[in-house]
Amino acid sequence: MANKAIKYRAYPTNEQSIMFAKTFGCCRKVYNLMLSDKIEGYKSTGKFPTVTPAKYKKDYPYLKEVDSLALANKQMDLQEAFHNTFSKSRKKNNGFPKFKSAKHSRKSYTTNNQKGTVAIIDNGYIKLPKIGKVKAVIHRIPDNNWIIKSATVSQESDGKYYISVLFEFDNTVNPYVADKTNAIGLDYASDGLYVDSNGNVGTNHKYYRESHKKLAKAQRKLSRMQGSKKHEDKSANYIKQLRKVNKIHRHIANQRLDNLHKISTEIANQYDVVCVESLNMKSMSNKSFGNGKATLDNGYGMFLSMLKYKLSDRSKYLIKVDRWFPSSQICHCCGTLHPEMKNLQIRKMTCDCGLTISRDQNAAINILNEGLRLLSKVV
Ligand SMILES: [Zn+2]
Repeated sequence: MANKAIKYRAYPTNEQSIMFAKTFGCCRKVYNLMLSDKIEGYKSTGKFPTVTPAKYKKDYPYLKEVDSLALANKQMDLQEAFHNTFSKSRKKNNGFPKFKSAKHSRKSYTTNNQKGTVAIIDNGYIKLPKIGKVKAVIHRIPDNNWIIKSATVSQESDGKYYISVLFEFDNTVNPYVADKTNAIGLDYASDGLYVDSNGNVGTNHKYYRESHKKLAKAQRKLSRMQGSKKHEDKSANYIKQLRKVNKIHRHIANQRLDNLHKISTEIANQYDVVCVESLNMKSMSNKSFGNGKATLDNGYGMFLSMLKYKLSDRSKYLIKVDRWFPSSQICHCCGTLHPEMKNLQIRKMTCDCGLTISRDQNAAINILNEGLRLLSKVV
């Protein structure tokens, strides 16, 4: 089993942030009470007694209001601090445990997941005991087989809240031989997302084109309103319409992100080795790679970074083939070089060996072959 923590930005409601502050405070209080009792105990018996948060709940009833696991984890923290104090390793030894001050101690607490008490809900919330659903940016969706172990809520010095979720998952890799049944090559396609070595097209434009029509219409309407020109005062209608336009922008961005997640997860689940071209996105969007707008919009770079971590989480491989490798000029069948393919207008390769194939699929197959060759040198 392996562990992985993902830190999510959280946006608690007022009520929730009050509860967070209470929990931070109670954790600090309990830690200090336990530390103090340990020291007093040592003075009278010569031994550090075992202390638990439960015994303080009578004297400090407000401790009952907060997540009891958060308090229990403070007991663990203190135990570890004591353990480290007497550890021979210098790295761990920070000296005798210190009392936590309200001003300088870190505002955080950890709670454990007990059969769903901590959960990610609707890809927009994190559920926590005693707090409920906290709005959060779920920039990374855990895989189905990942189990939530715990969550650490923290407030940074700038006031921002984060929830770091610790996952556990099975990372035992099945031994395999990289071959074409579990490997795939992807060739970047400016009019779609990619074409793979099986000839399938991955696209990110289906939804986007539709929303884009809506956006263009809304923007046209906006441009006719008072406030669209620099010297004009912004009318109420203009501001209202501007909000609409921004909403469509956000919608498009979300659609695109969802789609990229979906496609990259599918590929990472299905294949053990994914071979791609390393691209220089900046120069590509400027060059005559068909439509520069499409290049920027389809988020290929983001797609590759998603693929990278999703494959790595599954102990699989993303192989990047040098971008100078002439993937679209080599006949994948016989190896003949076809310099005429430098012309991007030629969409099909016809070779003397009898092969006729789409430019993109041929490139994807070459990327796959080159990637597997590179992999065989490493593994
Ligand atoms: Zn050929």
